[in-house]
Amino acid sequence: MARRDAALPSESGRRPAHVYLVGAGSGDVELLTLKAARLLQEADAVVYDRLVGEEVLALIPAGRERYDVGKARGHHSVPQAEIGALLVRLAGEGKSVVRLKGGDPGVFGRMGEELAVLAEAGVGAEIVPGITAASAACAAMGIPLTDRAHAQQLRLVTAQLCRGDGEPDWSTLARRDETLIIYMGLAKIDAICRGLRRGGLPDDWPVMLVANASLPEQASLVGTLTDMPAKLAAEPLPSPCLVVVGSVVSMGAASPARRNGRGDLAPLS
Ligand code: SAH
Repeated sequence: MARRDAALPSESGRRPAHVYLVGAGSGDVELLTLKAARLLQEADAVVYDRLVGEEVLALIPAGRERYDVGKARGHHSVPQAEIGALLVRLAGEGKSVVRLKGGDPGVFGRMGEELAVLAEAGVGAEIVPGITAASAACAAMGIPLTDRAHAQQLRLVTAQLCRGDGEPDWSTLARRDETLIIYMGLAKIDAICRGLRRGGLPDDWPVMLVANASLPEQASLVGTLTDMPAKLAAEPLPSPCLVVVGSVVSMGAASPARRNGRGDLAPLS
């Protein structure tokens, strides 16, 4: 069966303008998909973000064009409009372009905005998914994201919900039957814990913070909605860090995967 590949050269021999929006995974290079690794090796130009790990970037052959458009918290080092314009220009030059984003490009990655700019310019796009931080963090801590007895649903939210005066509706977020994963929530942990208790979750409801999930420098804290702010103040964690709220967190204590930062399990004998 023919494989659809929008970037194949046309009959005129010229490749149609095309950009691959590729997930780099959560940091551990082994969590990269085979497709992402191949595209990185074939790309003429790679445009990447701050969260993409060094080992992943090392897969780009020497001499290829590399653009670091990484963003610092609260400060976009390259404005989104410029990133869009750069992608359109590179693709228009007939280059094979990889837009590389941390985790999965479709999870809090502003991919929708880039797709819109590319479509507007008549540039084709293909999305290559990656391992998002939620999957990597829970795997590394030896817990599932969902579980029949603990969480029948999973919600991914951004702490941007708590920005400025905008308070989220805590009562809809405070559910005992789901796992709530909060991206970009480290600096908002006080407001998150307070809000979820006010929304109806018990004071001793489990919370976990995982920083640098899947990387050798991974660090974590496990606590409750009541004690987590003080635990974090006593033992600060770096960014990037994920907040996991839910009863699945309590399943971790018995798991052998917790003893190993990379989540490798020893064989059962
Ligand atoms: N597209 C990314 C998310 C980008 S938003 C993904 O799918 O993972 C950036 C936020 O993701 C960070 O503030 C942090 O909350 C989370 N994050 C990304 N990588 C992480 C990692 N290795 N460990 C913990 N959290 C991570």
